[in-house]
Amino acid sequence: MSETHRLVIIGSGPAGWTAAIYAARAQLDPVVYMGLPKQDPGPILPGGQLMLTTDVENYPGFPEGIAGPEMMGAFQKQAERFGTRVFSKDVVKCDFSSSPATLELSDGTSVRAHAVIIATGATANWLGLDNEMRLARSGGGVSACAVCDGALPLFRDQPLAVIGGGDSAMEEATHLTKFGSTVYVIHRRDALRASKIMQKRFLDKPNARVLWNKVVLDVLGEDMIEGLLLEDTKTGEKTTLEVKGLFVAIGHTPTTKFLRDTGLEFDDKGYLVLATRTSETGIAGVFTAGDVADSRYRQAVTAAGMGCQAALDAEHWLNERDLV
Ligand code: NAP
Repeated sequence: MSETHRLVIIGSGPAGWTAAIYAARAQLDPVVYMGLPKQDPGPILPGGQLMLTTDVENYPGFPEGIAGPEMMGAFQKQAERFGTRVFSKDVVKCDFSSSPATLELSDGTSVRAHAVIIATGATANWLGLDNEMRLARSGGGVSACAVCDGALPLFRDQPLAVIGGGDSAMEEATHLTKFGSTVYVIHRRDALRASKIMQKRFLDKPNARVLWNKVVLDVLGEDMIEGLLLEDTKTGEKTTLEVKGLFVAIGHTPTTKFLRDTGLEFDDKGYLVLATRTSETGIAGVFTAGDVADSRYRQAVTAAGMGCQAALDAEHWLNERDLV
């Protein structure tokens, strides 16, 4: 018979660790499955998207900013200090049809859990170009988060590019107009998908430009990005564009594939749907927190707040059933 835990937290970003800190302090003996590193096609690391963020300057409490990986290390340490048990494994399949739930792990074993918090986050979509991924990993001026990285000195008064035509692209590009000399939105079609108001907010900026019907064939530069090789989708013409920063904003994919066929509810993009304004999903004892259930705010601080909510909801749920 597999081991039964009171509370299992799946995921190790700000939401997962915050849930663990609260749950451990409430003596729920939480277990965290922090995930395994993978390439899909971009890097996915235990610790989540902050592991790919150079400086976090908008998380309260760090006036000088803090490196994303350092911050996640501190979150983990804090969770472990109160007794959280942490395993470097993926949860590959869940069965919520009976209680306690059964979770299959990447090492072929399984565990059972009275309560589960799903905090597996989302991953930014990348174009999938070799040089894009190389420079994103090395801090060479390629990022999938302008809100996280846009204010860094290397982007100040430099030409910058954003790929994508949705609300995220507009939001990122508008943010970047505060720092870059010119901000190019590069879109593969001749019409933006973004809402009119978000389009206008960007297009009204004096340093905003849109390059229509262009796809990126390559990212140029050795240690730092120097430009983009573009192709016009109508004429086939190839051009280079000098930029010192590239922000990929072509959507995110929530990490929910392993939850298919569990009876949980997803929206059309695969994000978990909350049953109420709490962290409850539609399945008793299954809670969720962070980007996996939030396509809108997607910030470390909002994810941490959701992690706190999920731990409190799980504690309440376990208490009601005398499982603490
Ligand atoms: P999105 O709406 O799915 O837009 C993705 C954009 O990226 C599209 O313009 C798409 O082009 C382009 N794209 C996708 N794959 C590409 C590829 N391989 N190469 C080049 N371009 C590619 O995603 P999003 O902008 O992240 O928005 C997600 C959701 O969050 C939306 O519902 C949005 O309204 C919401 N959101 C809201 C706010 C806000 O209100 N403040 C801010 C951000 C996001 P096509 O148009 O050609 O498909």
